[in-house]
Amino acid sequence: MSSPSSANVEWLARSQAAVWHPCTQMQHHANPHQPQHLPLVPVARGAGVWLYDFDGGRFLDGISSWWTNLFGHANPRINAALKAQLESLEHVMLAGFTHQPVVELSERLSALTGGTLGHAFYASDGASATEIALKMSFHYWRNRGRPEKSEFLCLAGSYHGETVGALAVTDVAIFKDAYAPLVRSAAHVLPAPDQRLAEPGETPADVARRAAAALAAWLDEHGPRTAALIVEPLVQGAAGMAMYDPEYLRLARQLCDQHEVHLICDEIAVGCGRTGTFFAHEQAEIDGRPIRPDLLCLSKGISGGYLPLSIVLCRDEIYAAFLDDSVARAFLHSHSYTGNPLACRAALATLDIFREDDILTVNRQKAQKIAAMLAPLAAHPRVRHLRQRGMIAAFDVLTDDPHFSRRFYRAALDHEALLRPIGNTVYLMPPYIIDDAGIAHLGRAIEAALAASLA
Ligand SMILES: *Cc1c(COP(=O)(O)O)cnc(C)c1O
Repeated sequence: MSSPSSANVEWLARSQAAVWHPCTQMQHHANPHQPQHLPLVPVARGAGVWLYDFDGGRFLDGISSWWTNLFGHANPRINAALKAQLESLEHVMLAGFTHQPVVELSERLSALTGGTLGHAFYASDGASATEIALKMSFHYWRNRGRPEKSEFLCLAGSYHGETVGALAVTDVAIFKDAYAPLVRSAAHVLPAPDQRLAEPGETPADVARRAAAALAAWLDEHGPRTAALIVEPLVQGAAGMAMYDPEYLRLARQLCDQHEVHLICDEIAVGCGRTGTFFAHEQAEIDGRPIRPDLLCLSKGISGGYLPLSIVLCRDEIYAAFLDDSVARAFLHSHSYTGNPLACRAALATLDIFREDDILTVNRQKAQKIAAMLAPLAAHPRVRHLRQRGMIAAFDVLTDDPHFSRRFYRAALDHEALLRPIGNTVYLMPPYIIDDAGIAHLGRAIEAALAASLA
């Protein structure tokens, strides 16, 4: 990291004094003499994969600013689309009114699901999308005369957001335990198909089948009371990039159909090409065709990492269950900025880039280069479970140091990279525009940060 200039120091001091930062023990920023101390990084601007501080210091954004950025900071095409949108309509309420960006975005997302998810509901953040999907499922069953279907299923280690409602289906103790008395307990946690749980001789598909058997057993008994199963397809992000075989999704789809249970795919992190297909669930097939969820949550990358936007896509059959003369049978959920035109425009510009630049094909080559860069780590004595799915790569580090994550993060900053391990899991989730030089840069930063934090 560059030596702090007066501008850097000023902004970090003022931020510390006035801003309550998320996901942070603020005490760790406060006292430079504490062993756990972490400096705040003031960012003056971003360009491409790089973030710049006020002093010429720079950091390669190896985790896409919390998994949101797809095509770089200050992307000229998204910037131009937003400037044009600003000149025509910045915002209008979406109850009783509509506009071009929200219509086009809904049409295009539905088309990307092969037309199976015909309607799009809008909010601003991922946790709200989770809550919308849960409420829609519950209310659907009520409208269909099945109010007893009111319970939800999620997987061990699942993360679906941190609002009080979303915490019901989030299984990450550090985020949930303090609020346990507030959280609705009508969610059951099932074994995860995490491929790291393979017994000797077991393949990832075997682990998936084992986890699906637990789902089957639960549904045999509780299916009639279950509204929905919610999953992060293929990669459980906040669990530490826990990856699993598509076989689990295939079996879960069949079991949900058998037991009349909705399958909610939370693709907030894994959607938008992250795992190699536009939607992660497409890697699970039945009869040669991709499975489809009943409800699909999107956020993070969908706006290119530009603006808060989340979307829940649903089957038309679900939508139809809310049509009635009675207002009480309608889905009355609303947020002030629902369907914001600027955010929808950023999403449309993002989808344009996917199409015009054939991003899924280009990413396949980049993913191979990332794999080649990381491959030598497999021989590192402290590295376990080197794994990758598309543009997400991760490995676990054997260490007893409770501060490993923080030490690695700091060391990576010293080597001009933003990498923020989850516990002992180091992961890469770079913007798709990263080039060979950027991949090599991350490789050097990982090597150096590993050496420094294991010393
Ligand atoms: C980030 C995330 C969320 C929550 O989104 P927010 O916008 O942070 O509320 C939900 N689910 C998954 C899988 C996520 O990665």
